Amino acid sequence: MFNSLSDRLTSTFKNLRTRGRLSEADIDATVREIRRALLDADVAVSVVREFTAAVRERALGSEVSGALNPAQQVVKIVNEELVEILGGQTRALTFAKVPPTVIMLAGLQGAGKTTLAGKLALALKEQGHTPLLVAADLQRPNAVNQLAVVAERAGVPVFAPHPGNTSAVDDAIVDGDPVAVARDGVATARARQHDVVIVDTAGRLGIDELLMRQAADIRAAVQPDEVLFVIDAMIGQDAVNTAKAFADGVDFTGVVLSKLDGDARGGAALSVAKVTGRPIMFASTGEKLTDFEVFHPDRMASRILD
Ligand code: GDP
Repeated sequence: MFNSLSDRLTSTFKNLRTRGRLSEADIDATVREIRRALLDADVAVSVVREFTAAVRERALGSEVSGALNPAQQVVKIVNEELVEILGGQTRALTFAKVPPTVIMLAGLQGAGKTTLAGKLALALKEQGHTPLLVAADLQRPNAVNQLAVVAERAGVPVFAPHPGNTSAVDDAIVDGDPVAVARDGVATARARQHDVVIVDTAGRLGIDELLMRQAADIRAAVQPDEVLFVIDAMIGQDAVNTAKAFADGVDFTGVVLSKLDGDARGGAALSVAKVTGRPIMFASTGEKLTDFEVFHPDRMASRILD
């Protein structure tokens, strides 16, 4: 992911390196190249506009440091502005003062929610937590079983509304109502002293009102400490509109970029934090449960500019 963006930016900077002092025209030419590279990578137009304006202003300003030549100075500014659009600081999960901590997952079908549920559960388990997974995705017939499979791979129990195929599956009291399943799942976590509960919710292929209402109802019912919006980094420009729709419809506390191992342009995913004002918290980088990392804006910016 981001390979072509990375190549474009680094070659722009390479051209600068031979220069001594940068004139306003040099800076404008560089900013134009940066703008084109970002747009070609699918970064949202509004984000590109703000980004390039900030870079231009700072590059023209008096930020001349003795230690850096002009080209290095521009790279430093671009790096800092990239960190900024990616959300600035690394944002860790917020745990409830009184357990269980409730983490709700939301996003379109196929975004990678169920896989993420397993990844997060495994990572939390390895940190000494005792997560319970809750299968509140009743939209697709196979979704509950899929979560049960992921839970088994992660070695954590799952609360599900149907008699499952694995011994790890509980029968919920209520069949068919995702809000009730989510609520019962959290109650069960509390009763059995799980300190974290991860609620997987249904996605649709596109944004629809019913999906949003259901997710908002689940949110209201379980009062999550975190709502993680999972977005497939490969979906291009749609990422921004999808993210905005979920921000308005459900609201979320953090973003998870999934499928960052893909070779799509990915710039739209880079716009999501800036456009929604919510931090990117995790990155999913493959199909294995261990293909998962905490998202560090500064490391991602350095990787792009490397
Ligand atoms: P959900 O519908 O949102 O629950 O999405 P799933 O978790 O079922 O994932 C949809 C598909 O994407 C599955 O085939 C997953 O194996 C795959 N997938 C999920 N996360 C990643 C990832 O980070 N990288 C890759 N390459 N595939 C992923």
